[in-house]
Amino acid sequence: MTYTIEGKTGAWEIVVGLEVHAQVISHSKLFSGASASYGGEPNTHVSLVDAGFPGMLPVLNQECVAQAIRTGLGLRARINLESRFDRKNYFYADLPTGYQISQFTHPIVGEGTVEIELSDGTVRHIGITRLHMEQDAGKSLHDQDPARSFIDLNRAGVALMEIVSEPDIRCPEEAGAYLRKLRQILRYLGTCDGNMEEGSMRADVNVSVRKAGEPFRTRCEIKNVNSIRYVMHAIEVEATRQIEVWEDGGEVDQETRLFDPARNETRSLRSKEDAHDYRYFPDPDLLPLVVEQAWVDELERGLPELPDDKRDRFVKEYGIPRYDASVLVAEQAIADYYEEVAKGRDARLAANWVTGDLFGALNRTGRTIADSPISAAALGGMLDLVSDKTINGKIAKEVFEDMLETGDSAAAIVDRKGLKQVTDTGAIDAAVADVMARNADKVEEYRGGKDRLFGFFVGQVMKAMAGKANPAMVNEALKKVL
Ligand code: ADP
Ligand code: MG
Repeated sequence: MTYTIEGKTGAWEIVVGLEVHAQVISHSKLFSGASASYGGEPNTHVSLVDAGFPGMLPVLNQECVAQAIRTGLGLRARINLESRFDRKNYFYADLPTGYQISQFTHPIVGEGTVEIELSDGTVRHIGITRLHMEQDAGKSLHDQDPARSFIDLNRAGVALMEIVSEPDIRCPEEAGAYLRKLRQILRYLGTCDGNMEEGSMRADVNVSVRKAGEPFRTRCEIKNVNSIRYVMHAIEVEATRQIEVWEDGGEVDQETRLFDPARNETRSLRSKEDAHDYRYFPDPDLLPLVVEQAWVDELERGLPELPDDKRDRFVKEYGIPRYDASVLVAEQAIADYYEEVAKGRDARLAANWVTGDLFGALNRTGRTIADSPISAAALGGMLDLVSDKTINGKIAKEVFEDMLETGDSAAAIVDRKGLKQVTDTGAIDAAVADVMARNADKVEEYRGGKDRLFGFFVGQVMKAMAGKANPAMVNEALKKVL
């Protein structure tokens, strides 16, 4: 079903295209040997190239190119064997060269696609228009001194990938799913850490509205939104604003806007500049970038299994539902953990324990899978005790909690607490007889046709045996005598 917003004149559709800036994971910057790592004392990661000294020559960092190509391959996109670097001229205090080196007419990566899945299970494909490489700018610091501003050039020249989507997104949920999927792919590839809080992934959000069946109308671009939740809010707020403009007989102007989450509104920043305002031209210091297909093939062979492929393999190999598989491949570390638990064991049971009890425990304790108090081997050891019927499912929960607290192995806990499942028919029969003797009235009722009392007897026998009886054997013993 199409997502719409109701205005005075009826339903409006939303059209969204996203431009994502993703900081490339690399040791050094795109055109200099200075460190690209985050943080550091201001202006300690700056070479003369980054500082825009006259006469300095940029030297392209091969690893950044490799990262861009890996990303293109991960987005199932066309890799352009020849691309070019242009100068995009504009003045910023924190851009000492007075231009940004970017790729304008010939990006390194062309059309691709990202598959997203919505909460109702709908699968959609969002087109990628292009991915190009460019430099990041420095950072102006206005809060260090009451009278002066400072500039930190540590970030100046760090490699960015700008990933531009087609205007294929039709609602906030799709925008959220697209960004999560993109971030997941980048993290799997190891080409960007996807950390939106630290600004290593940020989105420009292009929004327009239209009536069903119409061509696209004018869009506005909301700059630098730094969380997925804010992107989703901004779309809703901006679309609502545009609908009012159109319905009041006005025209939406193409402009750049800012989202203010505190006031839940967007505000005009500047009217949209056009490409000619930047006076793009090929950077005379850099040759066209030509890469060989053989290198692209080599990079492709080195790619990890991507999340969609992993999900499909989990469904096939482990026989788990697609939804569970999607949850388990959310992060590479979770997927690895799950596989270690599932290998050679009941894979469905493993999936239930990982997505249920383990995720619950991690949430409760504010931990991630990387610092899980229970290792995959330890959880697997516990599942082995369930499978070989040393403990039943209920006791397993108790053992799990103990493992969380003490870090002991499941086997040690079962020994220490004497939790071994009772499979001795004599003991079970004795408990059954005792429960029946103490509940003669209920036995009458059951035999008189009150079938649902069966559960009551099971519960009583289990209780009498401190939860340690084999449930299947208790059921059988009860059926025999009742
Ligand atoms: P520019 O070069 O001016 O930034 P692009 O053609 O590169 O323009 O488009 C930028 C982004 O705007 C892309 O993500 C694209 O999908 C999106 N976009 C283009 N037209 C529309 C529209 N009418 N409504 C919403 N988004 C749009
Ligand atoms: Mg653009």
